Amino acid sequence: MKRQLVVVGNGMAGVSCVEQILKQPHDFEITIFGDETHVNYNRILLSLVLAGEKSAEDIVINDLNWYQNNGIRARLGVRITGIDRDNRLVTDEDGGVTEYDKLILATGSSAFIPPIPGVDKNNVHVFRTLDDTRALMEKARPGLKTAVIGGGLLGLEAARGLQVRGCDVTVVHLMETLMERQLDSTGGEYLKRKIESLGIRVMLPQQTAALFGNGRVDGLRFASGEELEADLVVIAAGIRPNAELGRAAGLEVRKGIVVNDYMETSDPHIYAVGECTEHRGQTFGLVAPLFEQGRVLASTLTGSRGLAFTGASPAAKLKIMGVDIFSAGSIDDTEPGIETVRYEDPSLGTYKKLLLKDNHLIGMILVGDIDDQQLYMEWMRSGEDLTPHRRQILFPPRDADPGRLVADMPDSETVCGCNGISKGDIIQAIHAHGITTMTGVKLRTRASTSCGSCTGLCEQLLRAVTPDFQEETRTTLCSCVPFSYEQLRDIIRGQKLKSVEEVLTVYGNRKGCEVCKPALSYLLDMLWCGDHEEDRAARFINDRVHANIQKDGTFSVVPRMRGGVTTPGELRRIADVAEKYKVPMIKVTGSQRIDLLGVKKADLPGVWADLGMSSGQAYTKGVRMVKTCVGSEFCRFGVQDSTRAGIELERRLENLFTPHKFKMGVVGCPRNCAEATVKDLGMVGQEGSWQVVVGGAAGKSVRKADLLITVETTEQALEACGLFFQYYRENANYLERSYDFVERLGIERVRKETVYATESEKRSLLERLARSKALSKDAWLEGAHPVNPTQFVQIQPLEAYSA
Ligand SMILES: Cc1cc2nc3c(=O)[nH]c(=O)nc-3n(C[C@H](O)[C@H](O)[C@H](O)COP(=O)(O)OP(=O)(O)OC[C@H]3O[C@@H](n4cnc5c(N)ncnc54)[C@H](O)[C@@H]3O)c2cc1C
Ligand code: SF4
Repeated sequence: MKRQLVVVGNGMAGVSCVEQILKQPHDFEITIFGDETHVNYNRILLSLVLAGEKSAEDIVINDLNWYQNNGIRARLGVRITGIDRDNRLVTDEDGGVTEYDKLILATGSSAFIPPIPGVDKNNVHVFRTLDDTRALMEKARPGLKTAVIGGGLLGLEAARGLQVRGCDVTVVHLMETLMERQLDSTGGEYLKRKIESLGIRVMLPQQTAALFGNGRVDGLRFASGEELEADLVVIAAGIRPNAELGRAAGLEVRKGIVVNDYMETSDPHIYAVGECTEHRGQTFGLVAPLFEQGRVLASTLTGSRGLAFTGASPAAKLKIMGVDIFSAGSIDDTEPGIETVRYEDPSLGTYKKLLLKDNHLIGMILVGDIDDQQLYMEWMRSGEDLTPHRRQILFPPRDADPGRLVADMPDSETVCGCNGISKGDIIQAIHAHGITTMTGVKLRTRASTSCGSCTGLCEQLLRAVTPDFQEETRTTLCSCVPFSYEQLRDIIRGQKLKSVEEVLTVYGNRKGCEVCKPALSYLLDMLWCGDHEEDRAARFINDRVHANIQKDGTFSVVPRMRGGVTTPGELRRIADVAEKYKVPMIKVTGSQRIDLLGVKKADLPGVWADLGMSSGQAYTKGVRMVKTCVGSEFCRFGVQDSTRAGIELERRLENLFTPHKFKMGVVGCPRNCAEATVKDLGMVGQEGSWQVVVGGAAGKSVRKADLLITVETTEQALEACGLFFQYYRENANYLERSYDFVERLGIERVRKETVYATESEKRSLLERLARSKALSKDAWLEGAHPVNPTQFVQIQPLEAYSA
């Protein structure tokens, strides 16, 4: 007979404890009750769901399969209303009764709603569950006057989430300092300035006396008599342990359900973990200690009282992108014997404060610069005597061996506090799944998926353990928008930002610079497939005037000649234009085009109009041209019709922007007369097939392109080209040439994610390409001649292009 283990609470602590139990030999049949209707999810990430950075699906920790595969009965949407300790039964709200041998209470806490008149009005919300988050997302809209009561971690994250959804947000805080549980007044002042610079108003100290409005909230009235209009109010004024179930059952309960070091309550058959507990007089509001509790309880239940929970030192990081705040340990410097070491730089917005006792680090406040948090945490954990480090304690020199920190940690040490993942868990996953990237670590272990403060440590561990580590992290774009290219991609997509100005206002310094503006402009264009607000001023001069500026300030004009093929009519017009505008030099380029050099800026519109040709885009970070050889139509050696294929390739991809300039070549046989193997993308004709090659270069860098795939038909080759092209557009860093990109990722990965991807992945890449193409415009003829979006259909006859 298996013993019945019943868990009340399907949240982070309860389920994490069950996960630990499952890792041990045990004789339990497990039932989990959760009054939320959702499977177990990561509550911490609700802030990112609200901010649009993650979806509800992204934050699921264990889906239904997990319950099924582990033989766990999941009673979702069922609330336990009573415990009969004598008969070891729990009763649910539907009157159902479930027997237990062992009972775990993991009921968490609830948002505290202060007894303010008017809190029951419509449009007054709390922020605790997925349903709360969804309700806020439904209400949020641009311009909505929103007040967040509470300037703690949760209140600020709620405020930011609503603000990025366009709400006009004010944070109202009772205390003089924001996040006063984690920061001192100076740190709070730095934080306030940063929050205000994001466009969120902060009012403090401000005591809310009442919420007014007729049925629906219209605003807040403060004790000072002042009022604030608000159509939406979020209360984030703290939490209270859900201890009523335990209290009603007669367990020892003070603020929370009292537990000892083994997570045992006053009843030998009942245990408790999570925010509902009180341990040695302490209650909890952060998740790291709760995972520790889960581990301890699993050990208590499956064996002997092996592990013990001895309390926790708090550590918290604010999860607002661009606002770096980390606080850990004690921040009370009034105790006797405490020394503080501080540094602040108002213009950098940096504040660091370390608290030491007897040369041991016992607490820290880091604002604006949290790079050293891992080292400080390690010092705190190990209790190292810091006498030798005192001279450089605020700016410790970078360790010559960046892996030392993680190497020194015992396997049982927690690396990711938010998800309770230890060093040993990560190492095991790396070996078991052959993980080589941080994405793999996140996917397989969940480490580094919440507040992100352990990312550096996880990466060091990965580098130390796997010989095939693959770099993925990208550097910050620039100091105006302090996010990596990858993060910006997620932000723009998740928050549906549609203009450079919006991105800079919400996530940057509002101004931007010559580095970030063109990059953001490209990102928006690529992510929204052209369906965004084009900001001309954000582009380089060449893109603004649609010509290539020369050293004397005149411009070079290159009309498009697909595949290098032209007609007598075009040649005549080029000659006429050259005479009319007194073009000082006409030059045949290395790319088989005709370049009119020395055109004055004022003459550009006239030149374009008179040429009546489309722009050869020889100036842009985008598709330049396709160079073709003669091919089978005329050449004695030709085995494929390279001219026609090249023209078609150019037609399909022209007018599209890319991370850097993009050159192509198509040749009719391996003699390679048009040098296709040193282009970003090339097609090399073979007897009965085409080789598609990628990542070649013949400029400052010289690189022979890698073979992507060999295919039989021209259409298949063009499709492979389209797949690589769009993949490069979506995944390369801005200003990263295809040859660097292919080398960075490795051709195997590129193949796997393009030509050998699943049919649906390939289709969606091509669909996004087609959407971008449909909205692309010829820069010289904007509006007048929209580009025909019927690419990736059938090859057109040659005459269609040369006519
Ligand atoms: C928006 C947000 C952001 C956060 N960010 C961070 C962060 O960055 N870092 C950090 O460390 N912590 C953070 N926290 C706190 C963290 O989420 C909690 O510490 C953690 O979720 C507590 O876990 P728990 O299992 O004790 O409680 P919960 O996760 O709340 O789970 C308890 C579950 O039990 C259910 N329940 C209660 N009573 C019953 C009953 N009678 N019958 C059935 N089910 C019941 C509840 O509905 C709930 O689903 C955040 C919290 C929120 C809301
Ligand atoms: S590459 Fe081959 S087909 Fe093309 S021109 Fe040269 S020899 Fe002829």
